[in-house]
Parts: sequence; structure tokens; C-alpha cells
Amino acid sequence: MKPVDLLETEHRLGAHNYKPLPVVLSRGEGVWVTDTEGRRYLDCLSAYSAVNQGHCHPKILAAMTEQAGRLTLTSRAFHNDQLALFYEEIAALTGAHKVLPMNSGAEAVESALKAVRKWGYEVKGVAEDAAEIIVCSDNFHGRTLGIVGFSTDPEAHRNFGPFAPGFRPIPFGDAAALKAAITPNTVAFLVEPIQGEAGVIIPPPGYFKTVRELCTRHNVTLILDEIQTGLGRTGRLLAEEHEGIEADVTLVGKALSGGFYPVSAVLSNSEVLGVLKPGQHGSTFGGNPLACAVARAALRVLHEEGMIENAQVQGDYFRERLSGIRSNIVREVRGRGLMLAVELHPEAGGARRYCEALRDAGVLAKDTHGHTIRIAPPLVITRDEVDWALERFERVLTAGV
Ligand SMILES: *Cc1c(COP(=O)(O)O)cnc(C)c1O
Repeated sequence: MKPVDLLETEHRLGAHNYKPLPVVLSRGEGVWVTDTEGRRYLDCLSAYSAVNQGHCHPKILAAMTEQAGRLTLTSRAFHNDQLALFYEEIAALTGAHKVLPMNSGAEAVESALKAVRKWGYEVKGVAEDAAEIIVCSDNFHGRTLGIVGFSTDPEAHRNFGPFAPGFRPIPFGDAAALKAAITPNTVAFLVEPIQGEAGVIIPPPGYFKTVRELCTRHNVTLILDEIQTGLGRTGRLLAEEHEGIEADVTLVGKALSGGFYPVSAVLSNSEVLGVLKPGQHGSTFGGNPLACAVARAALRVLHEEGMIENAQVQGDYFRERLSGIRSNIVREVRGRGLMLAVELHPEAGGARRYCEALRDAGVLAKDTHGHTIRIAPPLVITRDEVDWALERFERVLTAGV
């Protein structure tokens, strides 16, 4: 089919729950993707940071095809020879004592919320059905019914109710608000280290130190959703390392498979995941041997190929050079590692048109929250490729569209 026909068919048959940039991709390698007409683009989205390791990473591909030819799925009714190795490797990297493997990010979030509620009743001693979980405004944790019920974005939750009770939103980056919101029934605080979908919002310095202290003092489980910030994106394996803290529960997904396959995990101390007993939680595909083999390779190459350090080095350079672009439409450049954003003044007329202009120039980036261009290339990007992208950003941000 021709690209216009593919778009037409997608529009006719598909639910319209996305508004993609009009570009039809058919190949990817490293930071580059190619459309059906053979045009190449530098990918500055990385599938929302699921492709940190670069498109079609050869070592992950090899692990996947090897495992796919051997054994893909047993369900957890039986053991498989990959699960223990996955546990061992991710625990060694992150310091987790217990691991719960799931598939999508939203499932990891839901699983953690179930576990902390159960922990609240069985360990903390909260009265039946009284558990409260504190969340942040402008959060993004996924699209399931449970999660959108505590989203503060009207698009995400309007007309999807009624929702589960027991969630309480407070402003992000405001430790005093957390202190005021904690009650004896609070079992957890769920928060992103940097709010990604909200537009790469970095909390004030010291925020997470205070959050950690408050959670410890009040016996509240600190759940960090690192599904987007984790696995090298910010120049550290986990973004919590920038803050010098450790979460009680860490959620990873997206790049856990390098974009090959949905793999997510809840990582915790023994106390929280320890409350789950046979029959109380599960997933047919969670922890399957194919997912485990892919995730093991995806984790391995992050370190073997220096991607985390590269994210720090190229991210600092990218951010500095973006900040140096003289443009009257740019309000702010911010980010950490290769999780970057250019926020435009409202008068610029929205980020979408600039993303379309960038596409014409050979760079794929995504607008978020109206006025922000999010920039998150694969962590394998080289200095030359950053320069190549910068030239296009400079052209588009200074020439206008
Ligand atoms: C993408 C994302 C999720 C949801 O992951 P899915 O795999 O899309 O369900 C959850 N939390 C954060 C911070 C994310 O960026």
C-alpha cells in the first residue's frame, strides 16, 4: 500500500485515540528511522524512551530470535530457565530484593498499587478499605481505569468514571503538601522522579530528600515510577540516583526490553512484594522466557556499551547547545541527561507545527502539553548526530514556520 493509503486505512479502521505526525516508518537502526519512501529521520522520541538502546539493537535482536526459537511462553504455572537469571541480573543492577515481572508499564503501576494497599492492611495495620495513596497533579502513570481515575488531566479521565476511591493528588515538587496530606491511613506516595508527559518537569533541589524523610518517618511506601526516567535516560541507571535517595518500590518498563517487546517490573524490598501470595496476583505473559531473555540483553547492553554515561555526556552538550539558540519563541530549555524539552512561548502557536517542520527537516520529535517539544533520542546517539540534530533545531526554532 502507498503511504497515503496506509494513513487512510488506519483512519478508517482504527480507533482515533492517537494523533500521530504524518510519517509512516518502516525501518529503524540505532538513532535513525526510515519511512516508506526511503527518507531518513533522526528519532528524537525513542518511542517515549522505550528504545533507549537504539532501534533494532543487534544483541537484543539476537537474544530475542534465539529465545523465540527455543521457548516463548510457559505461563507461571511452570518454571522457565530464564526467569531466575532475569531476577538475578536486575536485582544486582538495582539493589532490589524482590522483583515482580509484568508486561506494560501501566500493569507495573497497577501491580504496585495493589501490593502497597495489601501491605498497608497486613503490615502497617490500616483498617479495611481505608488505605490512601497520595499521587501528584499532572502525573502520568498509564491508561488503565485504576490509573486514569487519579489523573488530573481531564482528557485522560473525563467520562471514564466512576473511579476507584483512595487516591489523593497533591502538587508535584511541593514537599509541604506531601507532609500535610499524609494521614495514618496513607500507605504510599506514587511519583515520577521527573514528570515526563507533563513536559519534562524537574522538581526543586532537595524535594526528593524531604519526600524520602517524610515517607520513612510516617511509614509510607515511596513508589518511584521510573518507567520513563529509568534505564539510563537521565544519565543514571535510575533517576533517583540524581537525588541521592532510594525508593521502596521502583517501577521500570519501556526500555527494559529496548523496545522489542512489552516488559515491565515492580522492584521492591521484601516487605512490600512479600505480601503477594499464590493466587493473589498474576499475568499470563508476565515473566515469560522470551521477555526475560530480551530484558536481560537490553539491560546488559546499557552497561556494556556505555549508554548511561553517553546519555549524561551527550545530554549535557545537547541541552547547553539548545539553550544557546537565540530564538524569540523559546521560553525555556530544560532536562536531565537525554530527557530534554524545549518549551515555547504560547505566542508561538503551539509545538505541533514545529514538530512538523522538524519532521520536514529530518528530525522526529513530539509535542507535549501544547507548547513543549520533547527531545529524547536513543542513548546511543553520537556527538556528530547531536550536532546534526542541533542544526535542524536551530533552523526550525529561528526561522519560524
Ligand atoms: C509510559 C509510562 C507509563 C505507562 O506505560 P505503558 O507501557 O504505556 O502502559 C507509566 N508511567 C510512566 C512515567 C510512563 O512514562
